[in-house]
Amino acid sequence: MRIEPITSRHVLNPTGGFLGDGFTHTINLYRGCALGNSLCGLYCYAQWNPHHTRGRAWGSFLDVKTGFLESYRAQYDRLKHPLRGAPKPLRIFMSSVTEPYPPQERTARRTRSLLEEMLSRPPDLLVIQSHTPLVVDDLPLLTKLHRRCRVQINITVETDKPTLPQGFPSQAYSPAVRIEALRTLKAAGLPTVATVSPLLPLDDPRKFARDLEAVCDRVILDHYLLGDGSPHGQRTKQTDLPRLLERAGYAEWSGLQIFEEVVTIFQEIFGAEDRVGVSRGGFNDIHVPEARKAAASDPEPAPEQSLPWRRQ
Ligand code: SF4
Repeated sequence: MRIEPITSRHVLNPTGGFLGDGFTHTINLYRGCALGNSLCGLYCYAQWNPHHTRGRAWGSFLDVKTGFLESYRAQYDRLKHPLRGAPKPLRIFMSSVTEPYPPQERTARRTRSLLEEMLSRPPDLLVIQSHTPLVVDDLPLLTKLHRRCRVQINITVETDKPTLPQGFPSQAYSPAVRIEALRTLKAAGLPTVATVSPLLPLDDPRKFARDLEAVCDRVILDHYLLGDGSPHGQRTKQTDLPRLLERAGYAEWSGLQIFEEVVTIFQEIFGAEDRVGVSRGGFNDIHVPEARKAAASDPEPAPEQSLPWRRQ
């Protein structure tokens, strides 16, 4: 993988389209993705963005941004301390076209340095969307920031299967370690959301729903036919995913009937209607369930958490 620094001039990018109903801006501190050759890279919609790939194969590069702290300060101050008019809302989704916690974050610390900056310039809402358990590295910082503004952590877990049949790329992190990360974040009082996006074949939908229900406040389910940013999943249909599903005997998971059945199971197990979101509406619903609001306002520091996957 080719890793290079690049300069960021505008770290806060105005939203539109899929995320435009709930968020005002997105932040991507990397370009490309270190997980691009893993399972999620197979169907990752970011690979279709020519501005990011610039002709490079998805999974072959990671651009590491610099200069974004200065840019964040300047853009933040223009939004929140305008020369004229009222302050503007700042609801951030991080990240929309990259992973905010790739393994390289452990040395590059792009995300961590921005979170530290946000302590003095807090947005109204920060949603961190990750495919990895490494977000827990920043648990003390996230807990501190959550006392300054609304923070929500989304972790994607698309399947309960530890491995998929031959031909599928392997998962960068197992479902179990990602579920454990949600558990740790929730125990620390952070609002947590499991994103089953896009839904992949499940061994046991009821058990999966129960496992997720125990570790998150809400769940968002999506299917590539609904949420890959193209009409009728045209982008994903150009990838190997539908063919691999069919070859493995999972052709029905390419349709919406089984998706709707899984949504119904999750609605039963999560109970309250507002705890299960679907596709675009689910991602843009920035509602915090009542039970979590009390924890969010708790001024006590979170206790030390164990980081179970580090032992693996
Ligand atoms: S972690 Fe996210 S951005 Fe990276 S390849 Fe997977 S889906 Fe795409």
